[in-house]
Amino acid sequence: MNYRDEKKCAVCESTQNITLGQSCIGAVSYLYCERCRKEDYEPYGALTAMGMRFQHLTDEMKHIVVRNLIFHNKTIEEFDNDVKAFVESYT
Ligand SMILES: [Zn+2]
Repeated sequence: MNYRDEKKCAVCESTQNITLGQSCIGAVSYLYCERCRKEDYEPYGALTAMGMRFQHLTDEMKHIVVRNLIFHNKTIEEFDNDVKAFVESYT
């Protein structure tokens, strides 16, 4: 297996049509498949790593996060718990 074969979407692990893209939630880049890039889907870990509970997000970010939570099959409560766990692991 060469490097090219290992390229996969950071969100859904698809290996089809993978490109490097700018995340819509931070100054980082991930490999995205065509669908995830178009839909602004982000890796779940990147969402919780923002370290902000849902109610503290801007309206624009709430919109993005809600769409992502539906995609990742998570509730806002689960999201907040995962953010809390992330923050606590760094304090
Ligand atoms: Zn994808």
